[in-house]
Amino acid sequence: MPLPTYYKYIMIGAGIHGLSTAWHLAKELRARGRGTGEDILVIDKTAIGAGASGIACGVIRNNYYQPAMQELIAHSVDVWEEDAEGYGYLPVGYMQISPESMHQDVGEIYGRQKDISYESEFIEGEKDCLRYMRENVFEDWQAENITSILHEKRGGYAHNTRALYRLADKAEAEGVRILTGVEVVGLNHNGCISSVETTKGTILCDYVVIGAGPWANIFWKMLDFPDTINVEGADGKVHPDMKMWTYWSLQEGTLGVDPSYGKDNKDRMPPVIHVDSDAPLYSSEDNSLITDEMWGIYYKPDSHFKGIQGGSAPDLVTSKKVRVDPYGIDSPDFIVGPEFAHMWTSALAHCQKRYEDKYLKYRKEPSGGLGAFSPDNFPIFDVFKENCYMIADSSHGYKMIGLGKLVAKEIMGASQELLNPFRFDRFEKGEMLPESNSPFPWS
Ligand SMILES: Cc1cc2nc3c(=O)[nH]c(=O)nc-3n(C[C@H](O)[C@H](O)[C@H](O)COP(=O)(O)OP(=O)(O)OC[C@H]3O[C@@H](n4cnc5c(N)ncnc54)[C@H](O)[C@@H]3O)c2cc1C
Repeated sequence: MPLPTYYKYIMIGAGIHGLSTAWHLAKELRARGRGTGEDILVIDKTAIGAGASGIACGVIRNNYYQPAMQELIAHSVDVWEEDAEGYGYLPVGYMQISPESMHQDVGEIYGRQKDISYESEFIEGEKDCLRYMRENVFEDWQAENITSILHEKRGGYAHNTRALYRLADKAEAEGVRILTGVEVVGLNHNGCISSVETTKGTILCDYVVIGAGPWANIFWKMLDFPDTINVEGADGKVHPDMKMWTYWSLQEGTLGVDPSYGKDNKDRMPPVIHVDSDAPLYSSEDNSLITDEMWGIYYKPDSHFKGIQGGSAPDLVTSKKVRVDPYGIDSPDFIVGPEFAHMWTSALAHCQKRYEDKYLKYRKEPSGGLGAFSPDNFPIFDVFKENCYMIADSSHGYKMIGLGKLVAKEIMGASQELLNPFRFDRFEKGEMLPESNSPFPWS
């Protein structure tokens, strides 16, 4: 099929956001009598799910210290629940298990979940936490220094690529065209964007949506925006020349045991477990001290990954030149190494007795991947150059399947309150999202 010469709407990136936006925009156009899915083209340089969405762990949680994130995620959880089976969404719930230094923050998160009717339970005190875990979840639970547990009854995780193909099917059923193997190499703009330059030719357009995940910076440059910006901090001081995009290398891997090995006391798939701890972490291999500083891990039994899959806090990428391509497991720079495997399997053993002798089962295959983060590590959802909607999710986004629904409404001219805290001008206005005491940059 020849390259089209014009499309009213072009979505760049066939990840969770590009696909969700395409599908929802098609429905909006139809409902408003302003067009159909046939007005929408999705372009991806590789394939559906070739970016972060295709390798995401798939965890869906509301555990965020930032009220704006909590409300946005609650909206997305509604969307996951609309077609749980189709998306491969397992609503097993999620547990944030924390030491005393995070007790108050997590208590506030729980309070706000009550305010927005997001079902959860909060357990406090070391003894009660231990009892709760042993009686209700895992009888072999043994993590130390835990003084609070937030048990979210909604959320869980989804099969990463299944959800993407489901969205692609829904979009195509509305008439959207998905073009893969075509790379966008330029955005022609003079005030607003008039056309998209690709490796196969130029496509004129009226509106562009960029959902490029870890490639956000490449598009930022195409829009002629600077590498650094001035940011007003919570202290009211302006911090000049802050890097616009930083990269973190997400650390994930899989223990190669049957997923059923991770089941709970009642032989059910358990909630996703996220543990942050200030207890010294010792090696399950040789009992040496791995760290006596804060550490954190998450894990879940996952049949898609064929084992117990999870991760730990990401590593900040400090090199000046970051090679985003080749991406994911093909990257020579950003896949996890033996240090991650040692720490993560030891942390599993710290939490549950059943993992004490399982470190040899760690699957030595490439895993992990890169994420591009904004100056406050939270998403930017905004319109630039009048007709270019940028979805730069700061690697929070697989769980945000419903974001496209809100973006589609904004493209139709209906501003969405849930998205207001994520505008780009928050950096100059000193309205960045608040930071928590978690060891993860995204909590
Ligand atoms: C290892 C890992 C685990 C994660 N786990 C979770 C999790 O458990 N839960 C969660 O909520 N989030 C998770 N995330 C974050 C989440 O995956 C991302 O935030 C989200 O998938 C980003 O979606 P996206 O649609 O913006 O981008 P992507 O999924 O990265 O899609 C971008 C697409 O753009 C295409 N593209 C790039 N440049 C061009 C170009 N020039 N021309 C055409 N196409 C182009 C790429 O090929 C790609 O397919 C994880 C991320 C990683 C790396």
